[in-house]
Amino acid sequence: MSLFTSGSVERVKEASDIVEVISAHTDLKRSGTRYTGLCPFHDERSPSFSVDPTEKLYHCFGCGVGGDVIKFIEEKEGLPFPEAVEALAERYGVELEREAEDPKAEEMRKQRGRLTELLERTAGFYAIFLRDAPQAKKAREYLESRGLSAEALNEFGVGCAPGSWETVLVRGQRAGYSVEEIEAAGLVLKSQKGKGHYDRFRSRIVFPIRDARGRVQGFGARALLPDQKPKYVNSPEGALYSKRRTLYGIERARPEMVKSGRALVVEGYTDVIACHQAGIRDAVAIMGTAITPDQVKLLSGYAEEAVLALDADRAGREAMLRAQAVGGRKLQLRVARMPEGKDPADLLAGGDGASASAFRAAIESAEDLPVFHVHTLLDDADLATPAGRDRALDEVVAVIAAMPDSITREELMREVADRLDADPGLVARRTAVAPKGGAPPRAPEPAEPAAPAPQRALNSRERREVGLLAMCVKLPAEGEAFLEKLTDAHFSRPAAARARAWLRDHLEDPMQGLSREDEELFSYVADLKLRADEEPASGEAMELSFLELERARIDDEIAAAETNGGPPPVELQRRRAELTERIARSQS
Ligand SMILES: [Zn+2]
Repeated sequence: MSLFTSGSVERVKEASDIVEVISAHTDLKRSGTRYTGLCPFHDERSPSFSVDPTEKLYHCFGCGVGGDVIKFIEEKEGLPFPEAVEALAERYGVELEREAEDPKAEEMRKQRGRLTELLERTAGFYAIFLRDAPQAKKAREYLESRGLSAEALNEFGVGCAPGSWETVLVRGQRAGYSVEEIEAAGLVLKSQKGKGHYDRFRSRIVFPIRDARGRVQGFGARALLPDQKPKYVNSPEGALYSKRRTLYGIERARPEMVKSGRALVVEGYTDVIACHQAGIRDAVAIMGTAITPDQVKLLSGYAEEAVLALDADRAGREAMLRAQAVGGRKLQLRVARMPEGKDPADLLAGGDGASASAFRAAIESAEDLPVFHVHTLLDDADLATPAGRDRALDEVVAVIAAMPDSITREELMREVADRLDADPGLVARRTAVAPKGGAPPRAPEPAEPAAPAPQRALNSRERREVGLLAMCVKLPAEGEAFLEKLTDAHFSRPAAARARAWLRDHLEDPMQGLSREDEELFSYVADLKLRADEEPASGEAMELSFLELERARIDDEIAAAETNGGPPPVELQRRRAELTERIARSQS
């Protein structure tokens, strides 16, 4: 995005009413020439926040924040500078001038503006069609059956696409748009024979999907007829719409999220609308089952914590666990335990009020994601046999190891010892040496190929591989010897084997001379470097990881022997037993 001329930024500041902007976040009272109120940036009982309407500046004597109206929007609403300027310019009707812009970029920006305008018009048309058209009766009935009021539908601009083939196409052309533009906006498709175009959304309920500033980016459309496939159609990925970067309802949830510091994450369009209708105004939808890193990043600009209220079935649980990998440090993820088979819209429309209060209670008592993860692992584990409990312990200590030291963590460890019928000391020792990272969800990855990151969660062997290599980077003096002892056969991932070979020659400075072209090696080594900076290492932990990788290597050999039909060689068996004993010894 190009920068605006300083003159036009000044005009935006001049035109903005800083008292009005800040009043959306805290109550301001006039006091002489200034306004004062409780600081929206820190917790306080008596007001130390002051706004000067003539200088157009704010300042807090409590926590020291301060700046102009643009800074306020940046800080409080989480918009980057250019977007903050644009938002204010739009709100106060200031025409922005840009610094000399690359003509190509300028052309693209203008084109995007036209497409957004077209989407906005089309959304308006769909909304009126839903409200008034006799053909939209089924759509109105369906939405009503979901308990959604006309006001709530209107607030979200929900609409209905007519069943005809070219209503939107013709309307767009009449409004002065070329067929190419209407196609680029994702509203029409080229017909199979290559001649002509037809409307993408037909006989569907359409939900306009907006960005944080409320501009329509695309549509989600739900089938209206029972035999209509697929059930949901979205705008195509393109210049404006990107599913993984979008949160449905963000434009309406944003102020509440900023105020409360919380975001409620649900799955579907109607869930969001039902929540807002019920006064839960920090709800957004991820429009799928898995939250993406981009969505987490977007949320962390507004809230400190996100409560996931997603489907309680297996896939939903796996999806929430994957979120752990993308949660990052800025956004705390919590999980609301939802009654199985019910979504928030069902619960809130329950009529009796009891299911609505159950939903609110589930949100209030949401568990931290790692706690939820440990509970899920324990629930799924086979606790009847020592081997099953061993496996469960393996998995849970990895999750607990990644948690910060806290009462929650202590309590969880006690609970784990209790449920596994194990000595609390064993759980503590195992946690102390476990590689941080968290056990992976066990189900196969669901279809979400569009998102390149995050990487699949690592299994326990892969975690040991990466953990040991990272410790080699952190403690090069000890690491050198381990890198010599390790062979390709110790690694289950080729990238790990390649990283070991690289580290043998580049342990001093692993990133030095590493080419970005070799993406696999580059990202693996970069990850090692990060882990080395953040995670603890010790000679004992390295030795333990090495023994475990050695045992995994022998397991591979035993498995290979068995595949070839023969019994595994006695020597291998003996060696494995010896390793198991050494591992047990070094853990106690
Ligand atoms: Zn303050």
